[in-house]
Amino acid sequence: MAEPGDTFHQTPEEFRRLGHEVIDWVADYLERVESFPVQSTVEPGWVRAQLPAHPPEQPEPWHEILADLERVVLPGVTHWQSPGFFAYFPANSSGPSILGDLVSSGLGVQGMLWATSPACTELETHVLDWLIELLDLPETFLSTGSGGGVIQHSASDATLCAILAARDRVAVDDITTLRAYTSTQAHSSVEKGIRVAGLRADQLRLIDVDASCAMRPDLLAAAIEADVAAGLVPFLVVATVGTTSSLAIDPVPAVADAAERHRAWLHVDAAMAGSAAIVPELRSLVNVGLERVDSWCFDPHKWLFTNFDCDVLYVTDRAALIRSLSVLPEYLRNVASESGAVIDYRDWHVPLGRRFRALKLWFVLRHYGGAGLRHHIADHVALAAWFAAQVDADPRFERLAPCDLNLVCFAHVDGDDASQRLLDAVNADGSAYVTHTKLDGRYAIRVSIGQTRTERRHVEALWNLLDSLT
Ligand code: PLP
Repeated sequence: MAEPGDTFHQTPEEFRRLGHEVIDWVADYLERVESFPVQSTVEPGWVRAQLPAHPPEQPEPWHEILADLERVVLPGVTHWQSPGFFAYFPANSSGPSILGDLVSSGLGVQGMLWATSPACTELETHVLDWLIELLDLPETFLSTGSGGGVIQHSASDATLCAILAARDRVAVDDITTLRAYTSTQAHSSVEKGIRVAGLRADQLRLIDVDASCAMRPDLLAAAIEADVAAGLVPFLVVATVGTTSSLAIDPVPAVADAAERHRAWLHVDAAMAGSAAIVPELRSLVNVGLERVDSWCFDPHKWLFTNFDCDVLYVTDRAALIRSLSVLPEYLRNVASESGAVIDYRDWHVPLGRRFRALKLWFVLRHYGGAGLRHHIADHVALAAWFAAQVDADPRFERLAPCDLNLVCFAHVDGDDASQRLLDAVNADGSAYVTHTKLDGRYAIRVSIGQTRTERRHVEALWNLLDSLT
């Protein structure tokens, strides 16, 4: 029975000792991550079955809590940080990023307003301005002009915010007249965002793509003109630079031509491929036409060695975003906000509260420097080119999409069943994890190369495994 004045809190000394133990555990995990089957093999319900039915009433010893990480958690983990992770897109991490997140937790800041922790806001603004220089993005995104960047939870949130700002920029009495456009290959978050924004899914037109899976701007222009002729209001075009299925790149300049004609907001979703802009040689692929877009987002939590969650959204007109998302209750009023001299990021996204996520990005940028980031991103692209060359040289396989960046999509020439069997066999081996998509109706194996720890030997091992299983 606890008495008044008792404490259950950790002492600073306990925290220090256990903290070192936990860091050791994470460091050991990352050292041995390659030894685990990449994809968790537990059956549904297995993890819950290991847990007691009732919550603990009495405090439990820490050695038991840590032991359960090994016993209960690890078997149920798919190892996204394994160098054999070639599935989906990566959600990569790095030492500096993990430590940045730890410091963020330690500070425990809630940065909804500038006034609730000036460093949380100003570090974010500054680091995102740095990124514009590192990625050679348009200066119209800089916070020193009328634009600015903000860290969002995910690319889905960033796209939702762009949709909301675009919806509110057009003054229509009846929002059912609004129409948005994206390609058939766009990420599902575009449709979700449209629905969350109070529009019907059929107010989003899906524009067909060319043989490389990029949006056809002629069809976009025709769809927009037909809608205008029918009295409808095109308010938004979402182009994708690096689609989820195959990393196809929509032709942003031609898409901008069509969008600008009717003043539709142009948002570019570069969730995965945006990181490629750190490499100057890749900018002619991923940065073309960006000076004409209203907003652009990418995920450092995919391919810039920064732990989930960290998406970056840039806008050229921050006032439009703030107009859509700002609500000011009395209890948040403060002198700094009213002075107009500060940014309150609560007005730049949907939730009120926000973690100090800029810390991990700051640590990553300072630890690697532009040179380090460029080296590793270019390395992944070179590994993918090597893998694509093996596929091209092998008559058992057929490549189903161009490989300009770090994703290789291919099929077995014997057809969908053979491709699927091969994928299942690779994943059953446990040393690698790959996933699939459909391209032009065909089952495609996707090999996505971007995990922080993936080296040439891992990509070669995957190729050898495919070879032995075919
Ligand atoms: N956009 C694209 C092109 C993606 O590939 C993805 C995820 O893979 C997303 C958006 C959604 O990303 P997030 O998980 O950050 O919402």
